[in-house]
Amino acid sequence: MNTPIYKIKDSVDLFVSDNKYLMVYYMNTRRRKSFKINEWTMHLLEIIDGEKTLDELKKMMQEKFNVAAENTEAVIEQLETNKIITPRCIDDSILSEYDRKRYDRQINYFAEFFSREEEGMLAQKKLMDSKIIIFGCGAVGGDIAIELAMAGVQHITLFDFDKVEVSDASRHMYFKDEMVGYPKIEALAQQIHEIDNRIAIRIIHKSMKPDSNIERLIIEHDFVVNTLDEPYIGYTSSKISRICVKHNTAHYIAGGFDAHLASTGEMIIPYVTPCVECYAGYFKKTLAGWKPKKHPVVKRYREIGGLSSMTLFSASFACIEIIKYLAGLVNMNESFKVRGELLFSTLKLTYINVKKNPDCPICGERGAIK
Ligand SMILES: [Zn+2]
Repeated sequence: MNTPIYKIKDSVDLFVSDNKYLMVYYMNTRRRKSFKINEWTMHLLEIIDGEKTLDELKKMMQEKFNVAAENTEAVIEQLETNKIITPRCIDDSILSEYDRKRYDRQINYFAEFFSREEEGMLAQKKLMDSKIIIFGCGAVGGDIAIELAMAGVQHITLFDFDKVEVSDASRHMYFKDEMVGYPKIEALAQQIHEIDNRIAIRIIHKSMKPDSNIERLIIEHDFVVNTLDEPYIGYTSSKISRICVKHNTAHYIAGGFDAHLASTGEMIIPYVTPCVECYAGYFKKTLAGWKPKKHPVVKRYREIGGLSSMTLFSASFACIEIIKYLAGLVNMNESFKVRGELLFSTLKLTYINVKKNPDCPICGERGAIK
């Protein structure tokens, strides 16, 4: 059996100080660590080139510095534990040769969150196997679909009833003049297939009604995105979140925030993060005494301003969270974000102070749905 071949991780920068300290800079997490090292360890790092096998390294260290094989092995183990080096992945059953090439940069990035290169490929595979449904395919929903398709998601369901209009040109990344008047889901599906024609796309040309039965649809997917702002985002999110919590399906509420042009939206992991009802309870309390005044503009949601850079921010923020979750890159129990908002004028990003409500009727300890 071949012994492993090691390489220094792509996102690790190494510096030597005073000839006795190894400073390690992890680019993806911005962490720094320093280790006291001797001359032969320094040399070992120089000969770990992604081509020599462990046996060859041990032999070279023995010859040059008279280092016992088990000592070389112990240092290799330390370097691996500290995510400085990784055994190269030779298992070609995880991803096809084409996908290894296609997602090469992304796999390298994912691998940096783990000890072994192989885990980066497994993360990519998890992402590719995920089945995602996107309710609402306007600017934010469409951008999310495109970004996930680019990241490699191979099963996408699009749910929307709207048609492409000329005024979508400045906000929808999938906009094409020739698609004006066509259903948005068709224009979006066409764009997704231009990125990767292997993607299985299901299109559902429907609007969300109080009696729409979407439970089966949700059960058939691993992850749900909602950006449906008609009749309004609060209603569609509440309906979707209740079903998702019941089936323990993670979901993301993004877009539809007309008054908050660059909202980060929120990741909802049942029983871990606040759910839609927890958010509703928070706003009910915070805005107690505020009475909405009738706005004179009819169908105002069609008039409110928008800017593609802002919707792309919301979509990209959502995709970072969604990819982290689906690929299992970080422990979401500790690192999820509640809803935030980027202010256009100052670029200040602030988060609201909403917490999971233990008495929430949906996800709380005595919640109706368990
Ligand atoms: Zn809740």
